[in-house]
Amino acid sequence: MASTLFFALISTIHAKPLLELKESFGDTVVPYHHTIGRKKSFQQINMSIKREGYGPRTYLRSDVYKILTKTFKSLEDKPLKLVYGEASWGGKHKNKPLKPHRTHKKGMYIDIFMPLKNIAGDPVYFPINKKNLFGYAANFDKQGKGQGKHKKFQIDWVGLISLFEALCKHGGNNIKKVLIAKDLIPALQNPSLKKYWAPIPKKCRDKLTPIGVLGPYKFAGKDLLVDHDEHIHVEFK
Ligand SMILES: [Zn+2]
Repeated sequence: MASTLFFALISTIHAKPLLELKESFGDTVVPYHHTIGRKKSFQQINMSIKREGYGPRTYLRSDVYKILTKTFKSLEDKPLKLVYGEASWGGKHKNKPLKPHRTHKKGMYIDIFMPLKNIAGDPVYFPINKKNLFGYAANFDKQGKGQGKHKKFQIDWVGLISLFEALCKHGGNNIKKVLIAKDLIPALQNPSLKKYWAPIPKKCRDKLTPIGVLGPYKFAGKDLLVDHDEHIHVEFK
């Protein structure tokens, strides 16, 4: 009995706290609320799913926070514009899935939007606005070309591989898996990209997990199919 209590106490002391990721990393990596405003964006989303008082949506377990900070900092000199999305609720809500996601709890998950290029081939931030459900409703075809209102955007495959390489370098064994739309796999396997994949250890490359369409989920008052063609979902151990 006493020893059970002792171990419970020890595990509480060692529980890793959750930290809110809200920083930008130079001009290269910014949070998804950079255009809308931090407080406004999470209030809008939380309100739309009737979760008032739940707070910001980018909490991470402290070790995951460190990994991502290192990863994003390491990309600062790359010709990239990256936007990270939702992570987890913090505080007393940390054990609850970050609705409408089925997972995203305990600070062990983060979504990162695809690096994009415009028609001129220059890197641009992923467009985040209320209309495209904070980025999550944007769609891309198998070649990574934006659809509908996002026609002028193209997924930057080399940039995406650079992001994955940086995650592998700084996250390594702590990464459980990285979900990506299975439709995008053939484009990522294009022989012209082989040299960019080469420096990434196979053990980490194998964490890239193709996934089909999920949902529909109710998000911000609309039905949303989650197809992982506009973001990758990174899960930590
Ligand atoms: Zn996710």
